[in-house]
Amino acid sequence: MTIRVRFAPAPSGSIHVGNARTALFNWLYARHNGGVMVLRVEDTDRSRVSEESFRAVLDDLRWLGLNWDEGPEVGGPYAPYRQSERLDIYRAVVDRLLLAGLAYPCFCTPEELEERRKAAMAAGRRPGYDGRCYRLTDVERTKFEAEGRPYVIRFHVPEEGSTTFRDLVTGHVTVDHAQIDDFVLVRKDGFPLYNLAAPVDDGMMHMTHVIRGLDLQPSTPRQILLHYALGNEIPEYGHLPLILGADGQPLSKRHGEVSIGWYREHGFLPEALVNYLALLGWSPRDGSVILPLSQIVAQFQIEDVGASPARFDLEKLTWMNGEYIRSLPDDELLRRLEPFLVRVGLVSDPPSAAERSLMAAVVPLVKTRIERLDQAAALVAGIFREVPVDPAAAEKVLGEEYVPELLERSAAALEGLEAWDRDGIEAALRGVQTEMGLKPRKAFVPFYVAVLGSNVGAPIFDSMALIGREKVLDRLRQVREKFFPGPGAAGGT
Ligand code: GLU
Repeated sequence: MTIRVRFAPAPSGSIHVGNARTALFNWLYARHNGGVMVLRVEDTDRSRVSEESFRAVLDDLRWLGLNWDEGPEVGGPYAPYRQSERLDIYRAVVDRLLLAGLAYPCFCTPEELEERRKAAMAAGRRPGYDGRCYRLTDVERTKFEAEGRPYVIRFHVPEEGSTTFRDLVTGHVTVDHAQIDDFVLVRKDGFPLYNLAAPVDDGMMHMTHVIRGLDLQPSTPRQILLHYALGNEIPEYGHLPLILGADGQPLSKRHGEVSIGWYREHGFLPEALVNYLALLGWSPRDGSVILPLSQIVAQFQIEDVGASPARFDLEKLTWMNGEYIRSLPDDELLRRLEPFLVRVGLVSDPPSAAERSLMAAVVPLVKTRIERLDQAAALVAGIFREVPVDPAAAEKVLGEEYVPELLERSAAALEGLEAWDRDGIEAALRGVQTEMGLKPRKAFVPFYVAVLGSNVGAPIFDSMALIGREKVLDRLRQVREKFFPGPGAAGGT
């Protein structure tokens, strides 16, 4: 049997971290078992879905590297894979269910439902739908239809018995039918609801396994009942544990950023994010944390997914991202960094040859100093262009008494250098440091501020070598004129 799984997002913009984890686990299950990954877009709710949010889902999945074997843009034997293009199919299924007496129109108005709900509660009964319209006589039904009353279509849940399934993650689940209301399949406006469209498609698309978030587990007995009604094979189900924020509440916007788009924009590598997401509920038997995707695919077993909630820890993810950055070959890191430098205008789009070689030179300087790609620009900005001196850094660092003399002597030493290279620059500045009897920090931090504009940056000797002698001396001159005006440079501030 070929394993067939699906990711079935209802598109509403960039994918939520939890849904990305669902996509990933389905994908891993398919890839580990040589199965088929289907992307089915559940876009029947016209009020929420736009072409843009549909695109965002596809883009995010591609960025994460989670390809699909059947679905939008790639097609497949059960196309179309967008539910908005399958409305006729759902209509035909509902007609069949109506004819077989397994579904029925319900004319109850929201006011009537609310009134009966309150009455049931007051009488200590369960407040669910009471099946009134299931018991309408043919005469009554025909009369309501003739009056043009609006109606929904409900599925009739058998009164007796219970539905049981073995959840691959949480174990056996049994729900008494007395606890399941006759649920709505089709809305008043004729649009199909999730509990109709999902099982219809899971059946028609021959899904063998349905892997999704635990929040959807309550729907599963309903969907199984529908599968029985339609004569489908029942897929196996696995519900993935909830993802919680640091405070133990389900992960949401309150905990910070939860969309894949945010991680992409902020310089997370897809391979780091995927590695991190894989560990939300699953752990490899060998206990590794940093694990390339090929290894995850090789080791992924659904039995190793735990039922207890997973905790989303941005710090750990950021740390992992730094590890992944450090493991990239320099030319690959250059390729990844480029859009982040273009974005803030440090290089042109596309970069010129000169900019490209400068970028290549800064890659080794930032590699060990960033955890996210978007942190690089600030460290190297002063190498690409003159950055105005940060006033706070100037006050803190340049305000000290020894600084004018340090800058003056150093400028003279740099001017006299024979060759302008990193080692020569270091030797010159260390010479001044020794003469003045300064600690390295005191001797070098002022150059970060004066040359790079800020007291943090890529290593200073390398930076100065890349900037070039003329520009470095010019920046030192400007700083001396601006912060230490007057005859000589020894006037202090
Ligand atoms: N479309 C549903 C959602 O995004 C998921 C459907 C499913 O996996 O059954 O929540």
